[in-house]
Amino acid sequence: MVVAMEFRKDVEEILPGVVADRRHLHEHPELAFEEYETSKFVSERLASLGVEDLKTGVGGTGVTGLIHGGKGDGKVVMVRADMDALPILEENDVAYKSTKPGVMHACGHDAHTAMLLGLTRLLMDVRSEFAGTVKVLFQPAEEVPPGGAIGMIEDGALENPRVDAVLGLHVSSETQAGKIGMRSGSGSASSDRFRITVKGKGGHAASPHQAVDPVVIGSQIVLAFQTLVSRETNPIDSAVVSTTAFIAGEAFNVIPDTAELRGTVRTLDQDVREHLEKRLTEIAAGIGKAGGAEVVVDFIRGYPGIVNDPEMTDLVRNAAIASVGEDNVIESPISMGGEDFSYFSLERPGCFFNVGTRNEERGIVWGHHHPRFDVEEEGMSAGIATMGNAVLAYLDS
Ligand code: MN
Repeated sequence: MVVAMEFRKDVEEILPGVVADRRHLHEHPELAFEEYETSKFVSERLASLGVEDLKTGVGGTGVTGLIHGGKGDGKVVMVRADMDALPILEENDVAYKSTKPGVMHACGHDAHTAMLLGLTRLLMDVRSEFAGTVKVLFQPAEEVPPGGAIGMIEDGALENPRVDAVLGLHVSSETQAGKIGMRSGSGSASSDRFRITVKGKGGHAASPHQAVDPVVIGSQIVLAFQTLVSRETNPIDSAVVSTTAFIAGEAFNVIPDTAELRGTVRTLDQDVREHLEKRLTEIAAGIGKAGGAEVVVDFIRGYPGIVNDPEMTDLVRNAAIASVGEDNVIESPISMGGEDFSYFSLERPGCFFNVGTRNEERGIVWGHHHPRFDVEEEGMSAGIATMGNAVLAYLDS
């Protein structure tokens, strides 16, 4: 068994290499499903480290590899990193600034990829000391639904050998570097989208009685949606219904033919999710009928929410305590943002935890997806150590 504190020391030794990798990736960001160079960078590194059963092109640009423990067969645990960047023009003035105008690693997936490469190196070094197998998985397209995870699962990423448990992490601009956060149960919300077309009958604004006004009917729909959460959802459950776009007409004196509403629904519970989808559709159709308009509801399901397995979360919490001390381990808040690690954790018991990368002294305070987002790279060592100790503890359990 590898001792936790020794492992932490090894992490500090490789941190400069992880920082260099992260900066290289940061300088060369690629958008979702276009991670060709990133994927090549990852697979070449895994090959040079001697990782076995290297597979590329999994679910698009995904990469997987296996680290077999020297003490024989045992459990199989998968560690996942995401590789994609965002369509954002970077505003940071740093040496490792994005070299691609309009494309930026503004969510920290560069750090996730670099950290997993670092962890792979450490696990290869100590593999004679554990039984079982670690599967490292680098996925495309976390940022753009349907996401890269589902395609990798369809390509068999959780089989051959069958993966028993899954682990993932996300850097957090809200959490101080050096701290690790996790929570059991709901970790992130499901994120679904809706598009509603109200087909009325256009006409002269001075003769509304001869028209079917989609603006008025659409407005009633927007207001009726306000009761989906306030009157139809158990106060104990969390949910959000936001109408974010209302597109109709352009003139001062013309009632348009149609109006289009767009928005998003976020929930933590699958039953609440299904109820809101059903009722949102019924309410929109019913108001349309009452007003004499034809209403078409397009409900587009996005990522399901993450539900962290209690035992896996305990394992990660203990690994974090061993790595950074109890004072630096916190209970993460639930995120209403979407995260497609959920597809893995729906298939296998898993835990997705947070790694603090905020540093107020250095001005590293901007939120995810902001043009000035950055990560305090020192924080990555706590993440690698926690993940490494969690992997080893799982294989040993
Ligand atoms: Mn992200």
